[in-house]
Amino acid sequence: MPEFFINGQKVAAEKGQTVMQAALAAGFYIPYFCWHPHLSVAGNCRVCVVEVEGEGGGSSWTDIACNMPVSEGMRVLTDSETVREQRRQILQFILLNHPVDCGICDKAGECMLQDHHYTYNGEPSISTVPKVRATKYHPLSERIVLDNERCIVCSRCVRFTREVSKSHGLAIQHRGDHSLVRAAEDGAFEADPYSDNVVDICPVGALLSRSFLHKARVWYLQATPSVCPGCARGCTVNLWHRKRDWQLNRLDPGQNTEIARVTPLANPAVNGPWICNKGRDLARIFERPRAGEPLLKSRPVTLLQATSAARGLIAESARPVALVSNWGSNEELAAFKRALGSRFTCFVKRDHLPAADEPVEDDLLIRADKNPNSATAHELFGEAPIAFPDRTDLVLVWGEGVDFASLPRGARVILLGSYLAPENGHADVFVPISIQTERAGHYTNFAGVASRFERCFAKQPGIADAEEFFGQLAVTAGAT
Ligand code: SF4
Ligand code: SF4
Repeated sequence: MPEFFINGQKVAAEKGQTVMQAALAAGFYIPYFCWHPHLSVAGNCRVCVVEVEGEGGGSSWTDIACNMPVSEGMRVLTDSETVREQRRQILQFILLNHPVDCGICDKAGECMLQDHHYTYNGEPSISTVPKVRATKYHPLSERIVLDNERCIVCSRCVRFTREVSKSHGLAIQHRGDHSLVRAAEDGAFEADPYSDNVVDICPVGALLSRSFLHKARVWYLQATPSVCPGCARGCTVNLWHRKRDWQLNRLDPGQNTEIARVTPLANPAVNGPWICNKGRDLARIFERPRAGEPLLKSRPVTLLQATSAARGLIAESARPVALVSNWGSNEELAAFKRALGSRFTCFVKRDHLPAADEPVEDDLLIRADKNPNSATAHELFGEAPIAFPDRTDLVLVWGEGVDFASLPRGARVILLGSYLAPENGHADVFVPISIQTERAGHYTNFAGVASRFERCFAKQPGIADAEEFFGQLAVTAGAT
């Protein structure tokens, strides 16, 4: 374990670490653009330059921290006058042709170039000739556009497609100030199910998500920690939505309860720093038209009436069966087990199957099971395939994925669902329930790791929380 000195302070490094890795691990700040902890070292932006003091009074020298291995006893300065001057010159070079259009750039507020520029430079471009113009809003794919004038050619995006997603979908064309990031002509980037990660790792506002383009300034948004329910990996994510202080009253108040964007919430035990594109599109899952009214055979009733009718059906039933949702949280599944587990014959159903256009499984993150909590559902309710016992007279269907034609003839049906669907009106009792963004809880992923999601939005009146609802039905179960 080599020991060395950063700004005069002794630091113990791991064997094989670079100065950048050891410094960050020890809490010292070194700026960077092209370096990324999960990508190979490119060493092209040079902004992580540090000074190494000469041994025995010898002259000092500068080098980039991302590519310099730690050696025993070396003395590194991360913020000397020489270092600051070199960083200033590097920033001048990077900004020579940069459009500095922060006022309309989605990255403003999160941009490493803004931060480093104001820390080390702060001056306008020193170019005496017109800036080199390049493509604005070049369509890299259906999901991503590229502003080449903002690109600092750090190559993070290119390395991501080579080293992480392995689509080899991006490359750099031409050289010098004519360099352009471009997508491979074979459509590999378009087909890359992890492509949107390049938007996060682009240190400037060059790569832009079409779904978030000019949608909101990031300082109007807050991130709520959550879990992607798109497959059994259960990637941890941040759901970005409008801050309470910046709610819109007259101008499109619908935005107040919308998911503006989804980004990864780094988690070494589950997904590292990445998510797949399905995770980015959670708004498409959560923002489907909602079911807002409890129904008795398609007739709108109050939640109290629907609960009472459900209790009546359970009390009358001789052979009730429950089809349990693997989109239920650990807390909801446990509540069901506690309240009704001994009253019902229970089977776990798959709420979602792979869609025709989605990747089924791969070696990086994506799992074939497109549901977030099969692990806990199977642990509590077993793995038996659904088989209705003879004379089943009541089926409680919790969640999606059930074809009503497959239910036993004549059996009464209690349905708990969140979205508008034709089946809602066919059930004897339909109870609308909250979705993940309206409650907190945990999912346990395929590897047994439990992750917590927090509430983003309030649920509407008339909508039940499944956990609470099961507790109300328990009274009936106990009485039989
Ligand atoms: S588009 Fe962004 S990530 Fe890619 S090379 Fe340019 S600055 Fe780097
Ligand atoms: S890999 Fe699965 S859990 Fe992770 S973001 Fe994609 S769909 Fe969601």
